[in-house]
Amino acid sequence: MSTKLLLFDIDCTLIDTGGAGMSALKEAAKTIFGGEGPPLDLAGSTDSGIVRNLFEHFDQPYDAKLEDTFYQDYLVRLQRNLNHSDFGGRILDGVSVLLETLMETEHTLGLLTGNITAGAAVKTKHYGLDHYFRFGSYGDDHWDRNLLGPIAIERSGKEFASHDVIVIGDTPKDIACAKACGAKSVAVATGKFTKAELLEYEPDLVLLDLASEQTLDQILA
Ligand SMILES: [Mg+2]
Repeated sequence: MSTKLLLFDIDCTLIDTGGAGMSALKEAAKTIFGGEGPPLDLAGSTDSGIVRNLFEHFDQPYDAKLEDTFYQDYLVRLQRNLNHSDFGGRILDGVSVLLETLMETEHTLGLLTGNITAGAAVKTKHYGLDHYFRFGSYGDDHWDRNLLGPIAIERSGKEFASHDVIVIGDTPKDIACAKACGAKSVAVATGKFTKAELLEYEPDLVLLDLASEQTLDQILA
């Protein structure tokens, strides 16, 4: 079997922050923009896409400096929320075993997430998953998630045929993003979408979670 590049989404795929991330974004929006803005559609959205929507909603011209100020505020709140046990976040079932098993193989692991780079670092570090991922593509690389696949592939530093790339995530946007770069899409129903709902977007594989003993074989098949 050829070696694969597995690109993992973070939220509701590897971890559930118990709302710590959502709350940090809302609080930062209130502080920087003066209000929470439109209802946040976090499922599969990039952080920079969310900030773009905030500029639009509050009728403000885009300002890179203000975007950066927003992220700095968000990151402080995110860390604070994660440290606060009330949110009750956790690593999702099967994730630790799956990642540990993959580390013993010749396959390559990366992140493909809508989180900004620093936000992804805060979250993966908090849950002790950071050492599994040497690289990734992030929500501050581009607001359009569909453009993040090729960035992650390039950062792997290796050559991968598109059919050897596997994108694993919990939303239709993860499926679309896999399709956009010709990768295999593995959808996992550990977020707000059910298996049946995810199937409508025609991923190559849908799993209830990553906890089954067959998970790795199914993903790599
Ligand atoms: Mg997700």
